[in-house]
Amino acid sequence: MPILRRPEKISTVTLPSRTAVVAAETQVLIVGGGPAGLGAAFGAARAGADVILAERYGFLGGNATAALVIPISSYYTHQNEHQTRGSTSLFPTDHGDGNPTIAGALGDLVSRLVLGGGALPPSDRTGYTVPFDPEIFKAAAFGMLDSAGANYLLHCFASSAFIEDAVSGAVFETKSGPVVIRAQVVVDCTGDGDMAASAGATFEVGREDGGVQPMTLLFRMGEFEKAAFDAYVKEHPDQWYGIHGLWDLIRKAEEAGELDLPREDILFFGSPHEKEVDVNSSRIINVLGTDVWDLTYAEWEGRRQVSMISAFFRRYVPGFEKAYTIQSGTTVCVRETRRILGEYQLTADDVLEARKHDDVIALGTYPIDEHNPKGKGTMLKPVPAGRAYDIPLRCLIPKGVENLVVAGRCISGTHEANTSYRVMPISMATGHAAGVCAAIAARTFRPPRQVPFKDVQKELIRQGAILEV
Ligand SMILES: Cc1cc2nc3c(=O)[nH]c(=O)nc-3n(C[C@H](O)[C@H](O)[C@H](O)COP(=O)(O)OP(=O)(O)OC[C@H]3O[C@@H](n4cnc5c(N)ncnc54)[C@H](O)[C@@H]3O)c2cc1C
Repeated sequence: MPILRRPEKISTVTLPSRTAVVAAETQVLIVGGGPAGLGAAFGAARAGADVILAERYGFLGGNATAALVIPISSYYTHQNEHQTRGSTSLFPTDHGDGNPTIAGALGDLVSRLVLGGGALPPSDRTGYTVPFDPEIFKAAAFGMLDSAGANYLLHCFASSAFIEDAVSGAVFETKSGPVVIRAQVVVDCTGDGDMAASAGATFEVGREDGGVQPMTLLFRMGEFEKAAFDAYVKEHPDQWYGIHGLWDLIRKAEEAGELDLPREDILFFGSPHEKEVDVNSSRIINVLGTDVWDLTYAEWEGRRQVSMISAFFRRYVPGFEKAYTIQSGTTVCVRETRRILGEYQLTADDVLEARKHDDVIALGTYPIDEHNPKGKGTMLKPVPAGRAYDIPLRCLIPKGVENLVVAGRCISGTHEANTSYRVMPISMATGHAAGVCAAIAARTFRPPRQVPFKDVQKELIRQGAILEV
């Protein structure tokens, strides 16, 4: 395989020092334009701060658009968590009871998606998830920032925090050479905690044995004939549970030497488009999303699996005879990397007992959902029915680093808790809170850790966030 692998013996060179263009000075700099970054830009700008959001790609949305993660998972309290045998809904059968637990920035995004004809609103039919069209998501994300009054710079990869006495911006690699954006407060929404790690924050990666959740290269298939698929499931109800299954067909294809996946089932979701599904079935194990050699291998292995799965669909699965791959992710999708150690670390017990905290800034209802780091198997543990867990502001404040707030997938929590709060709606909600906290810190010339949580809660509620169910 002609993939460059990590050198066995590491040698280093010293680079010459360099100067950078100061592109701008701002109150709040948000690094990363995924769900957390969008939430942060919305929150900070609506709290009255001057905001710049900087993103490495030429579009916004993070995993939602770059990695084709569809749908936005349910953010409603649920009555009973189960997948129905023989259901062909193509959406998780979570049976939300109609109580949303996240609004504010997410509410703004979902309205734009639905009004733009790019999403189905959350309802019983969608299991209270929001299936969306990733192209319309890209437009909605720009619309969100434009109307909130947040500025943005694209095509800039943040290589480190810019540190004077404390964090005071970020350094970006761009086609125009190195660029610095100065800021009173930086919000790290890179998913990987890149800014926090470069500023010296302590972090953890993976579970106790070092295993991290696998990566997946997602892809969209078009020309899917649902009636033919439904007829197959009607005859074989034990073979499909709403969004996953096909065990007999997998076995057949494995016996014929045509399928070889390190996961137990086939998983795909419906889309707002009748003839389209989003396939979440590749699994790339023993790889880390902050390692360039692993990422290169993961793209190669992901593409190998996508070709194999797409051929499997056409050959074995009724309804897919004429289906074809419309698009695969611009990037392989990374579930888990750094978890920045904050003033509080959210635990599995917080999630599973739906614990309350005085400094709540976001709610979560998504289950603990661990895709086995070592191969086949997925562990699901639900949040108690009708309830939500609190995420404290302290999870966004890194220990020992000033002028920096973290949001999204990289906030402070254990590996197990992370498998729940990493999903897009919760990432967006922690982003929303991080943006508000950063704006108040900048306006009052205080480090974020000294911002009273009641001030953050008051502003979040003014902006439509939900902090209690
Ligand atoms: C396979 C898979 C399936 C999933 N399924 C679902 C699902 O069905 N529903 C759901 O809600 N969630 C799902 N998730 C979880 C969800 O996609 C992520 O956890 C969520 O997107 C995290 O949001 P974020 O903003 O923290 O990070 P991201 O979405 O990763 O966004 C980070 C952004 O920062 C940018 N960035 C990163 N580093 C830098 C840098 N150094 N400089 C500049 N920009 C940078 C990236 O380009 C990106 O735009 C899934 C995840 C995976 C991997």
